[in-house]
Amino acid sequence: MPAERASKLGHLEVIKCPLVQKLCKNFEDPDYTPKSSNAVWQKLPNKGQELKIVFSSDGSLQTIEAPQPPYKAIAFVKTALMKLDQYAISKLDKEAPNPFALRDIMEHSALFHSTAFPLRHVLIQGKTIYNTVREIIYESVKDTGLNDALDGAMMNTLKWIAYDGWSPEPKDHLEEFGCPHCHQNKATLPFGEERGQCPNCGGEIFITDLFGLHLAMQEDYAPNQVASDYMSVSETLMIFTPIKYYWENNREIIRDCLFVKDGPLSLRATLAKLSAPIRRFFKFAKENGFDIAMIGQEKTGAFFDHLQLIGQNAPSGSIFIPDNSYIRNEVQHSNLLGVYGSDTNYGAKVFVKYNDYHKMVINVPTGERGEFVEHPSISNLIAIDNIIATLPKILSNRYEGALLPVELANGIASLSTYPSAKVLELFSQTLTKS
Ligand SMILES: [Zn+2]
Repeated sequence: MPAERASKLGHLEVIKCPLVQKLCKNFEDPDYTPKSSNAVWQKLPNKGQELKIVFSSDGSLQTIEAPQPPYKAIAFVKTALMKLDQYAISKLDKEAPNPFALRDIMEHSALFHSTAFPLRHVLIQGKTIYNTVREIIYESVKDTGLNDALDGAMMNTLKWIAYDGWSPEPKDHLEEFGCPHCHQNKATLPFGEERGQCPNCGGEIFITDLFGLHLAMQEDYAPNQVASDYMSVSETLMIFTPIKYYWENNREIIRDCLFVKDGPLSLRATLAKLSAPIRRFFKFAKENGFDIAMIGQEKTGAFFDHLQLIGQNAPSGSIFIPDNSYIRNEVQHSNLLGVYGSDTNYGAKVFVKYNDYHKMVINVPTGERGEFVEHPSISNLIAIDNIIATLPKILSNRYEGALLPVELANGIASLSTYPSAKVLELFSQTLTKS
């Protein structure tokens, strides 16, 4: 392996160089303490009430790639929604949950959905990967689940969000999006429809083309990003499914619920077509007297890393909402102009520290566009009092800042353990034998 050897020798040469030695000496700074940041921590609100029902959603993704050419690739995606009530929460041991208690909860309170995408070099008779993946996205959102458990709920939720189904004046057609056939930004569907014809070229379009995932695909190639974007959409539809249900059937129950999504309350790039209607919904619900308690929890990424820097010196029992300039300068270290996340996000970034062991980054809806981060205030965060009162009851003691419902949803959604990655690999080998 000549290339490898060369690079290792080169590495040694670099270390010998006097300039590099001098520079590296300066890099070492054993007395480094994080400079006190400009974060303005405030006391945690303490007037809230504990929410008695907690829903959580999570997803996982496993891409299986053949190690030899032509590198066939299939992605498996699984998402889960679970419900925990106060009784179930109180019965769970926060250090080491009893596996049987967990099994009972999962059997009765969890829904999951799984699907698979051919990404590259997988043959589907008479069809391109481009159209196959589009159809799979559509059929997957329509999934009825095992034993019809899901009952097509994700599709109904998607229509409810995309057409403003919650509004007294829903949209009479979908907001125009890029057509997968003529590529003009003229594709739309009339109210309530799932599929139809592009008004411009007459090609068949699905409501799920609205996500624009086809923009990143070619005839016989789909990037891995398509699968992770689908997962993100599915997790979002999952967590909004109980909201839609209660909104239509028993609205008062929403006042007792906390909705927890793993990851930020954000939909990247073209998926952001859903962020605007979601923000409108939170605003509408609030104006009609329903403060819906939802959080997204970030356990990785720039904001989480930043919390590790500033959280140590923050007082216990405090909350910090970064404004736009703080996010641009201290978290992103970027010169980007404009308001952070104003198109993609439907929640504001919030740092919370209960004590030295339990601190976290959560996203909380405000119902506003990103302009909110110009002048953030705790009072803009929807249902923050109840959220802050509830989180200590669902903290898991297994990991720092971990939330029990997310851990459980993750256990259901996890593809690396169930079914095992090995099984998926075997399964995909049979699938792709042609
Ligand atoms: Zn068209």
